[in-house]
Amino acid sequence: MPIRVLPHEVAARIAAGEVVERPASAVKELVENALDAGATSVRVEVQAGGLGGVRVVDNGCGIPAADVASLFQRHATSKLTAAEDLQSIETLGFRGEALYSLAAVAEVSVLTRTPDSDAATYVEAANGRILRQEPRGGPVGTTVSVENLFDQVPARKKFLRSPRSELSRVNGVMTNYALSYPGVRFTLVADGRTAFTSPGGGGLREAASAVYGREAAQAFLEVDAPAANDIGVAGLVSPPESTRANRSGITLFVNRRPVQHRSLTYAVTEAHRGILPADRFPVAVLLLDVPPQDVDVNVHPTKAEVRFRREGDVFSALQKAVRETVIAVAPVPEIVSGTVGAPTAFGRLTTAPREPEASPWAPEAPPQAQFGLPSMPEADAPSTVTLMPDAGSDAPPPPRQEHAPVSMMQALPALRVLGQTQETYIVAEGPDGLYLIDQHAAHECVVYERLRSAAVRAAPEVQGLLEPAAVALSPAHEETVHDHPDLLAQYGWLLEPFGDRTCLLRGVPAVLATRDPAKAFLDMLEAAAAAAEFSTWEDRISATVACHGSVRAGQTLNREEMVELVRLLERTQQPHTCPHGRPTMLHLSANNLEREFGRR
Ligand code: ADP
Ligand code: MG
Repeated sequence: MPIRVLPHEVAARIAAGEVVERPASAVKELVENALDAGATSVRVEVQAGGLGGVRVVDNGCGIPAADVASLFQRHATSKLTAAEDLQSIETLGFRGEALYSLAAVAEVSVLTRTPDSDAATYVEAANGRILRQEPRGGPVGTTVSVENLFDQVPARKKFLRSPRSELSRVNGVMTNYALSYPGVRFTLVADGRTAFTSPGGGGLREAASAVYGREAAQAFLEVDAPAANDIGVAGLVSPPESTRANRSGITLFVNRRPVQHRSLTYAVTEAHRGILPADRFPVAVLLLDVPPQDVDVNVHPTKAEVRFRREGDVFSALQKAVRETVIAVAPVPEIVSGTVGAPTAFGRLTTAPREPEASPWAPEAPPQAQFGLPSMPEADAPSTVTLMPDAGSDAPPPPRQEHAPVSMMQALPALRVLGQTQETYIVAEGPDGLYLIDQHAAHECVVYERLRSAAVRAAPEVQGLLEPAAVALSPAHEETVHDHPDLLAQYGWLLEPFGDRTCLLRGVPAVLATRDPAKAFLDMLEAAAAAAEFSTWEDRISATVACHGSVRAGQTLNREEMVELVRLLERTQQPHTCPHGRPTMLHLSANNLEREFGRR
C-alpha cells in the first residue's frame, strides 16, 4: 500500500485515544482543568459510570469569550508559552490536548464565564468541529459536558467495562484529587445520587476522613519530614497493626499530581521492612514536593508517570520519612503460635500493639560499666567486649530522629537479664513475659545511634593510629573514597591520599579500635558497597561501621556485659529494630505462655 497521510479526523481519534481511554480519563482531564483554574469547588456528575455522560462544574477563573473559539484546537493551551516552560511545569495540564481529544471522540459542550464578564459563553463541538457558539446566562466558572463518548469509535467502546466498574475508576480519580487538594470541595454524583464528597477547606486528615472513613483517618500516622535536598515529604501512613495484602493502598503524589511509580512504591514498602511481615503492606497517602525542574511529567500520555532527575534523592527522602514515622510506633514482635506471620521456633511471628502504660517493673540497678575505650588498638583482645566507648556518661544520647515523640523513650520496658542462649540471644524477663534479644542487632542499634549523633555534631569518636596504615585500594574502593571523603571523616575514618590507588589511614572509628585498621577499612568499604538495602552512602557507611563495631553472634557475654547492653538499648530512641530493619528482640507474653501451657 502506498504511504498516505491520514485524514484529519482519523488522526485526531488516534491521538485522542491515548489521552482519553475511558470515562475516568475524561473526568481526570476535566478535574485537572478545574484545579488549574483555581476552583475551590469541583462537582462531577456521571450517568452509568460516565458511559451515559459526564459533567464537570467548577467555580474557577473561567475562559475569556475571545479564547473559546480555539478551545478545541490541538495544542491550544494557556499554560505554556515557550519551550523552556516544559522544563518546569507547575500546572496539571500543559499539552492543550484534553478538550481537543474529547471533541474528537465525543460531543462536548462548555459553558464558561470569567469574573469580569457579564455573560457566559456557550460552545458546542463534535467530531472536532465547533457546531455552535453563543452568549448565555451562567455563573462564574466553567461547566463541561461530555456525551456519546466513543460512539464513533466502536473499537474503543468494546474495551469499556460495566458502569459499576467505570464508576469505581471515576471515584478513584476524585478521591485522589480530594487527597492532594484538601482545600477544594469535591462532589461526585452518580446517576443522581451523591457517591463521594470531601469537605474542602481542610487539611489532609479531613480529606482522608472522607476517603477512608473517620476512624481509619484518625489512626493514620502523620509523615512530616523536613525537606532534604529540596525534596519535601508529607502525608499519612497506616499504623503497623492495620495493613493490606497488596500494595494498592499506597497512593503517591508528586507536586500534587497522582502518579504511579514502582520504585517509589518500593521505597514505601522498604520503609516497613522488619516492621510488617513480608506479605503485608501499608495504606499510605504520600505527597512529594520536588522542584518542578527536577521532574519530567511529559513522559506518559495521561501524565500518570513521571521521571526524576535525582531519583535516588527522591527515593531516600521518601523511604526515610516513612521509616522514621512508622519505626516510632513499631511494637516488639510477639511470639504467638497459630497466627499469621513468619514461622519461628516457638510458632509464628506476629506483631502486637505495645503496652501503653508505664512499667511497674523495677529496673535493675545499673552495674558499674566495665567497658571503657581501650587506650590503644590491641591486635586481638577477644575477652574484652567494647559495648560502648565511654559508656560512663549518663546523658541520654541525642535522638536518632529530630522530632522523636516522647513516648519512644518508654518504648522498651525495663528488662531483667536471665541469661544467654546460643551465644547469640540474651534472655530477659519484662513486665509481661519473656524477651529474647539478639545481642548483635541490639548492639548495632546502640552503636548506630551513637555514631549518627556524633556525625550530626561533627564530633566523631576517632581512635588515632600511632603508626598510619597505608591501604591499597581497588578501583571501586578508590571511587568510594574519592566520592565520599566528608562522610568517611564524619564516621571516624581519617584518611590522606597517598599516591596511586593508595591512601594513608591516620584514624579509625573508635568502635573499631581493636581491629587491624587497614583490614577494618577495606572490610567496611566492601560491605558498604554491597549494602544495597540502603539508598544513601551515609546510611551504608554508618550502618556498616555500626555492624562491624558491634558484638557478634557466637560471642559469650558475661552477666555484666548483658546487663550493660540491655541498659544501653533501653536508652536508644529506636530500640526495636536494627539499622537494617531486623527486629532486635522478640516477645513471648505471659498470656501466650499461659495459653501454650494450657493453663487457660
Ligand atoms: P491544557 O489543560 O493542557 O492546557 P486542555 O485541552 O485541557 O489543555 O484545555 C485547554 C485550555 O482551555 C486550558 O489551557 C485553559 O486555558 C482552558 N480551560 C479548559 N478547561 C478550563 C476550566 N475548567 N477553567 C478555565 N479554563 C479552562
Ligand atoms: Mg487540561
